[in-house]
Amino acid sequence: MASLLLVAALVLLAAQWFRPWNPAPGLQPLLLASGLVTALLAGLLWHLSGRLNALQKRESNDQRLLAEVFDAVPAAVALFDSDDRLLLCNGDFRKLYAPLAEQIVPGASFESLLRMAVARGLVPEAAGREEAWIEARLAARRRPGPPIVRQLANGSWRRIVEERLPDGRLLAHSVDITELHTRQQALEAARSEGDAARRASELATARLQDAIEALPAGFELYDAEDRLLMTNSVMRSMYPLVADLTQAQPSFEEMLRALHARGGMPQLPDDDALDAWLKARQADRHAATALPATAPGVRQAGHRWIRSHERRTREGGVVGIRVDVTEIEEQRAAAEQASTRLIDAIEALPEAFVLFDADDRIVAFNSRYPALYADSAGAIRVGARFEDLLRHGLASGQFPQARGREEAWLQERLEWHRNPGGPIVQELPGNRWLRIDERRTRDGGIAGVRTEVTELVRREQELSELNRQLDGLNAELERLSETDTLTGLANRRRFDRQLAAELTHASERGEAVALLLFDVDHFKRYNDHYGHPAGDTCLQRVAALLLACTRPGETLARWGGEEFAMLLPQTTAEQARQRAQDCLAALEATALPHAGSLLAAHLTLSAGLASTLGLDPCSPHALLQAADAALYRAKQAGRRRVAS
Ligand code: GH3
Ligand code: MG
Ligand code: MG
Repeated sequence: MASLLLVAALVLLAAQWFRPWNPAPGLQPLLLASGLVTALLAGLLWHLSGRLNALQKRESNDQRLLAEVFDAVPAAVALFDSDDRLLLCNGDFRKLYAPLAEQIVPGASFESLLRMAVARGLVPEAAGREEAWIEARLAARRRPGPPIVRQLANGSWRRIVEERLPDGRLLAHSVDITELHTRQQALEAARSEGDAARRASELATARLQDAIEALPAGFELYDAEDRLLMTNSVMRSMYPLVADLTQAQPSFEEMLRALHARGGMPQLPDDDALDAWLKARQADRHAATALPATAPGVRQAGHRWIRSHERRTREGGVVGIRVDVTEIEEQRAAAEQASTRLIDAIEALPEAFVLFDADDRIVAFNSRYPALYADSAGAIRVGARFEDLLRHGLASGQFPQARGREEAWLQERLEWHRNPGGPIVQELPGNRWLRIDERRTRDGGIAGVRTEVTELVRREQELSELNRQLDGLNAELERLSETDTLTGLANRRRFDRQLAAELTHASERGEAVALLLFDVDHFKRYNDHYGHPAGDTCLQRVAALLLACTRPGETLARWGGEEFAMLLPQTTAEQARQRAQDCLAALEATALPHAGSLLAAHLTLSAGLASTLGLDPCSPHALLQAADAALYRAKQAGRRRVAS
C-alpha cells in the first residue's frame, strides 16, 4: 500500500517538474505543495479505484464508508473508463458542474458532458469558437499532457490533471487555484511595471546624457572618491591635452598633474607651484559640505580663460560646469585698459574735471577737482549727487556769491547745470575764481571742466578799476576841454555845440531863442591901469556876476577875451533885452572900480542882442553874426548899453 502511494507521488511530481507552464518563483512552493497533494490524492484514488472494482459487488458498510471518504476529498475527482464514460465522481465534481447534475451519472460519456458544459456557457474560453474548442479538448484528452489551467463561468480558476491509468481508464481531478492564479497575475503585473520603470529610467538617463552632451558648456562629474565619471565633448575640447585620459576615470589631481606635465598650465612654472596651486584648489573644491555652488572662478587653461562653477553632489562628488570666457575676458581687459587710459588722460588734464551721469551722480573726476573745493573734498566721491555737493559747499561757506541768498543761488546754479550754456565764473573764498564749462554728454550726463582764473579775474578787476578811473579822467578832460580855464565858464567850443543843439530843438518846437553878447567897455585901459593879472581877476568877477544872472536851461560862455555870450532858450527879443539890461545894471551895481574908463569910475558893459525870430537863415552863424553886429552898434552908439 505505502509503496503504491510513493510510486504515484513520484510519477505526479515528475509530471509537475516537466510541465511547460512556468509559475513565478514565489509560487513554486505552493504549486509543489499542490502537486504533492494531487499526487497523494491520485495515489489514493488510484488505489481506491482498484479497490472499488472489488467492492462494487459488495454492499457493505466498508463500501459506504469509502464513498464518504471519496466525497470528502478536497478536489473534484472523476474516473472514466477506457471508453471515456464516467465510472464514478465525488461530491466536489458534481458541485463543480452542478448545472449538469442530471447528466452526471455513471455511464455518461465525457464528450456529451463536455458539449453540454460548453452549450450552457460553463467554459468561457470556448465562447465564440465552441466546436473548435471541443475538438481540441477531446484531442488533448486522448493523450493527456500537462495540467490544464482554466477559468470557469463563475470566475474561479481550476487546475485540471488528467491521468491515463495503465488499464486504460482515465482519472481526472481538479483543484481551485483562484488565489494562486490571482497572486501570480499580480506578480506578473508587478514585474512588467518594474520593466517599464527600468526602461523609463534608461530613457531618462539617455536623455540626460544627450542634454549634457548638448550643453554649450563643459561638463564634468566626479564621484566621492574624486574619480572622473563623465565629461562631455565641450569639456574635452577645452582640455584637448588630456582629453584622452577622461575614459580611464582618473582622479581630479591626476588630471591636473597630467595637464601640467603636458604644458597645459603655463602659469605654473614648476612642480612646487603646481603643488601649492593644487592644495588651494582642492581646499576650495572640498570646502563646501552640502551642495552649495562655489563662487565661479575664472582660471587660465592654456591661452584660454575658463569660468568654472562647481557644486557638491548628494553622493559627495563634484559636478563642474565650465564656460570658455576668453572673448569676454579679452573684451573686459580691453575695456579696463581703455578705462585706465581715460582715467590717466583725465588725470593729466591741466584743469579740474568731473563727470556726472544722467542722474547727476559723479561717475569720474580727477584729483584737481576736490583740490579746488577743499571744504567739500570729503563729500566728493563716485556716486555723490551734484546737488548734495552744492549744499555741502553752501553749508561750509564755500560760495561767497551765494551769501545771504543761498537757496536762490542754489536753484540758479542747478538750473544752469541742468541746462548748460556758456561758461560761468564762480568765486571761491579768498578772492579765488573758477571758470566753469559744463556740457551735456551723449548719454544725458554732464561733463564739467573747471579752470582756476583767479589771476585773470584779478587783472580784470584791476583793469575795470583803471577803466573807471580813465572814464573819470576822460570826463574831466571833456569837461576841461569845454571849460574856460580862467573863469570856469563854458568855453566857445561848448557854447558852439550848445547853440547848435538849442537851435535845432527850438526850430522843431517853433520856439524863439535869444543870444546876448556882452563886452567889457575899455578893458584895454583897465589892463593898462591895473595890470594884466588884475585884469584876469576882473574878468573872473564879471563871469561870476553874469553867471548869477543866468537861469536853469540857459548857457553862459566866455566867448573870447573880455566878451561873454549868453544863450536864452524860449525867450523873445523883448525878454532878452530886459535880461541884458538887468545884467548891465547888476554889474554896475557891483561897482567894480575902473579908473581908466572914459565912461564911469566903475566897470561897465555893452551888449548886443539877436533873436531867431525873423532870422533868415536861422543858423548859429547867422545868429552870432547878428548879435555881434548888434554889439558893434552898442559900442558905436557910446557903449554902456544894449543894442539889437
Ligand atoms: P572897447 O570899449 O571898444 O571894447 O575897448 P577895449 O579896450 O575893451 O577893446 P579892445 O578890443 O581894444 O581891447 C580889449 C582888451 O582886452 C585887449 C586885451 O589886452 C584885453 N584882454 C583880452 N583878454 C584878456 C585877458 O584874458 N586878460 C586880461 N587881463 N586882459 C585881456
Ligand atoms: Mg572891450
Ligand atoms: Mg572886446
